[in-house]
Amino acid sequence: MSKFVYADNAATTAVSQDVLHAMLPYFAERYGNPSSIYSVGRSAREGVDKARRQTADALGAKPEEIVFTSGGSESDNQAIRGAAAKCAAKGRHLITTAIEHHAVLHTMRALEKEGFTITYLRPEPDGTVLPETLEAAIRPDTTLVSIMYANNEIGTIQPIPAFVQICRARGILFHTDAVQAVGHVPIDAEQEGIDLLSLSAHKFHGPKGVGALYIRKGVRLPSLIEGGTQERGRRAGTENTPGIVGLGEALFRAAAGMEERMERVARLRDRLCDGLLAIPHTRLNGSRAHRLAGNLNISIDGIQAEGLLLLLDQNGICASAGSACATGAVQPSHVLTAIGLPEEAAHAALRLTLDDVNTDEDVDYIIETITRLVQHLRSLSPAWGPAQTTH
Ligand SMILES: *Cc1c(COP(=O)(O)O)cnc(C)c1O
Repeated sequence: MSKFVYADNAATTAVSQDVLHAMLPYFAERYGNPSSIYSVGRSAREGVDKARRQTADALGAKPEEIVFTSGGSESDNQAIRGAAAKCAAKGRHLITTAIEHHAVLHTMRALEKEGFTITYLRPEPDGTVLPETLEAAIRPDTTLVSIMYANNEIGTIQPIPAFVQICRARGILFHTDAVQAVGHVPIDAEQEGIDLLSLSAHKFHGPKGVGALYIRKGVRLPSLIEGGTQERGRRAGTENTPGIVGLGEALFRAAAGMEERMERVARLRDRLCDGLLAIPHTRLNGSRAHRLAGNLNISIDGIQAEGLLLLLDQNGICASAGSACATGAVQPSHVLTAIGLPEEAAHAALRLTLDDVNTDEDVDYIIETITRLVQHLRSLSPAWGPAQTTH
């Protein structure tokens, strides 16, 4: 009885063995400062340069368009604060959505206090933001639109090219928080016309604390971190060499064979979905068609997801309730609220996120365990009357 199933890959992923091996020499052998001229510094520089090429190749970008950062949160802050400041003379209206990650939402809230006006677009009930919704929100003083590529809670993938078209025609910068999408969905930043794109290594089997911001050639932003001239003066600080090498290697591996992996993971996810929706009074949150391959988010009536999580943990299953960041907080997830879920259904939402490391056996075990636990929890609940149990 020592089963362990990790089904919280949207929160973070394990560093793969290949990535770990690629990183190891950069701690104690190739430890030089990449800015130094001697050989141990040059070998560190080579590692960073290779990672920049690997990252650019995976995104259909040029190496000089990649800036390494400390992760998705910094990339989001840099993109939004940078673009807002750069264009402040032209206008002070920014557009985002109500379902962004807090790295975007809280940055926008901070800018509101600094005199910017923000419009938070409402998604449809499946989590999709309609291009018409964006179009209607644009004003003459709009300078930046920031819409996530795919949602971290419900997995909905947005129609990014349609947003880009709208922004381009009006000379508005377009940023996307693609932290959940990069490494999981094919993305060509150049072809899709994206100006700014955030990614984070630990969401695709790379290490934590390292990410990147794609900045389209010709777009110049004031930098968030002042200091040395690293990253062509766009992000100061001695490079996180092992982390950057790990990011490049992880993205290179994620990009290879992506289609097959997506299909395999989606098949597991669909089987898990069918198995869990067979429990009476359950519903899927988010879009069925436009969805990340590994993401499943379901509401289980009569269940407090937080309580269920503890029981799942006792059974060796790692999952999350709505947003991982909201765990422990009394507030229902802002994403589930924004797609119109009543408070009860939001508190009853369980998120399971699979990845290529998961197996059919894992799926069977999760279905079996959740079905048993839900039956048990409902049988204990006085509020769960016979009215509900007759389906
Ligand atoms: C994880 C995540 C982030 C934050 O990335 P960090 O590297 O953990 O700072 C931002 N946006 C989305 C959508 C995420 O899933």
